[in-house]
Amino acid sequence: MKQGDTPMDRYAEFYRRSVDAPEAFWAEQAKLIDWKTPPGRILDASRPPFVTWFAGGTTNLCHNAVDRHLATRGDQPALIFVSTETGVEKTYSFSELHAEVQRTAASLIELGVGKGDRVLIYMPMIPEAAFAMLACARIGAIHCVVFGGFASGSLASRIEDATPKVIVSADAGSRGNKVLAYKPLLDEAIRLSAHKPQAVLLVDRGLAPMDLTEGRDHLSAGLRDKHMNAQVPCTWLDATDISYTIYTSGTTGKPKGVQRDTGGYAVALAASMKHIFDCRAGETYFSTSDIGWVVGHSYIVYGPLIAGMATIMYEGLPTQGIDRQPDGGIWWRLVEKYKVTVMFSAPTAVRVLKKQDPALLKKYDLSSLRALFLAGEPLDEPTARWISEGLGVPIIDNYWQTESGWPILTVANGVERMPSKFGSPGIPMYGYKVKILHESTGEELTGANEKGVVVIEGPTPPGFMQTVWRDDARFVHTYWKSIPDKMVYSTFDWGIRDEDGYFYILGRTDDVINVAGHRLGTREIEESISGHPSVAEVAVVGVADQLKGQVALAFVVSREAAAVTDADLALRLEGEIMKRVSDDLGALARPARVRFVTALPKTRSGKLLRRAIQAVCEHRDPGDLTTIDDPSTLQQIKQLL
Ligand code: AMP
Repeated sequence: MKQGDTPMDRYAEFYRRSVDAPEAFWAEQAKLIDWKTPPGRILDASRPPFVTWFAGGTTNLCHNAVDRHLATRGDQPALIFVSTETGVEKTYSFSELHAEVQRTAASLIELGVGKGDRVLIYMPMIPEAAFAMLACARIGAIHCVVFGGFASGSLASRIEDATPKVIVSADAGSRGNKVLAYKPLLDEAIRLSAHKPQAVLLVDRGLAPMDLTEGRDHLSAGLRDKHMNAQVPCTWLDATDISYTIYTSGTTGKPKGVQRDTGGYAVALAASMKHIFDCRAGETYFSTSDIGWVVGHSYIVYGPLIAGMATIMYEGLPTQGIDRQPDGGIWWRLVEKYKVTVMFSAPTAVRVLKKQDPALLKKYDLSSLRALFLAGEPLDEPTARWISEGLGVPIIDNYWQTESGWPILTVANGVERMPSKFGSPGIPMYGYKVKILHESTGEELTGANEKGVVVIEGPTPPGFMQTVWRDDARFVHTYWKSIPDKMVYSTFDWGIRDEDGYFYILGRTDDVINVAGHRLGTREIEESISGHPSVAEVAVVGVADQLKGQVALAFVVSREAAAVTDADLALRLEGEIMKRVSDDLGALARPARVRFVTALPKTRSGKLLRRAIQAVCEHRDPGDLTTIDDPSTLQQIKQLL
């Protein structure tokens, strides 16, 4: 190190190389994974905004996550499963994981799955879900994991878009000791979908009865037994072959299938485990997310395993013990027991824990823990301070999206220690050219604290989405054409950058809301509510909430005019509407309140003024209302609060 170099200088140099000489930079990172054939061309950005990484290279995600560790750490823990819902705790070594993945791979092959076929995974947080993901990766099938908390309507639209040959599911999930039967939801979703899977592979946990459809449904145990000694070699895939799709919400009611490659993703994860998460092989990583979300893909399953770490897969609430009794210290107990070095969670979870006895943080030996990463929603300062003081380790906010696959903004402590600032997720990560642009002129805002849209200039780094599944036009139009005259990727987040280059995220620019770290489209919720026979019109907005970050509120114009004045009728309709959303999309999308109004605030041209409604609900100034057709509509909402 030159004299006078500060850590920030060292990261600055690392970052500069990543954006000025991306080919050399990423060629070096590519050495962090195993290739069957090394990549020929590192970067091809000749067809913007599409980017091709590592063309000519062949590799396999499952090989990198499992097989390559067998020689050096076959007997070491790979997957540690803890369910405080069923009281099961079980560790799989890399060798055991290898065997299980091959059994699942052989089962999928027997059901007709081959390279490029889609396998939709609708599963609770059980090891079989990870086996299925890795088995798909092993044989080159494209997995599409759908969050187990989604209900039949959400599931049906994903089945229809992904057109899976096989669906992998289970009898039930469980949350807070309450069993949620999956099979009836799955059967209903398949009934609703125009596309029908050829086969359904079902894990029977013995939690809920299942009606099996003859010829279509198969119990996993029977196939597993049959393939007990299966040897299924990894299929070598082109770096650019699709590894998976994952659906995420946007401005329209139709979820987008975010599509990711194989080689770029493997390299991006391996690099992030080193430079951002600062992890070492043989250690234990604990992410409290769910495999249904991108964090689960990147940092429960693939990232830690690629890095040769044990990963904890946790089913249950943060406040319930392995004996299924209340225990606000369960996560810290696991940190102590498994010597967790790096933990990843969401601010919402920490806000839940904040309500527990603070002594629980001191009860366990947490000396193995080096850092807690938090992502998914803005991290408020009181929450950050509380957990930081309680744990005594760095709390690292990181900002990213389903689309990016790994952090866009944070600090890269594996490159060099950098200070964090409360309220800021950090600075741009290597490979990301992050800018703030004026939303309507597209002008770059370079001054400190100027608010604009956070965008990324192409070429996007490895691991970033390739396109929208089967819809290149939607990819280009949605993400790359929203700023006038500039082809840049919009994150659809507002942001500012301070004088030291730290970014602050100030909420979404579109109709996406964030409930307890889960991204939901208000349009999807509106579409579900509109299906209720008494609903004429509806607006759903996200409103600030102390615990969950945001909650959805629905304002409804009912065909039953009396709903505005008749409290009993309003209560009945509210209950029916909430149930409808739960049944359709899942409990997480259910609005916190449904209120009835005579008309919704709109512009004279008939556009819903969601932002003004949201401002009124949050007791803020609704801003410029010169275009509003009828100001009394907002008054009515104000009076309802
Ligand atoms: P998802 O695609 O579900 O991961 O949601 C991504 C969105 O969550 C981003 O566009 C942001 O609006 C929000 N988000 C994620 N991480 C953070 C963070 N660290 N700080 C603020 N907002 C975040």
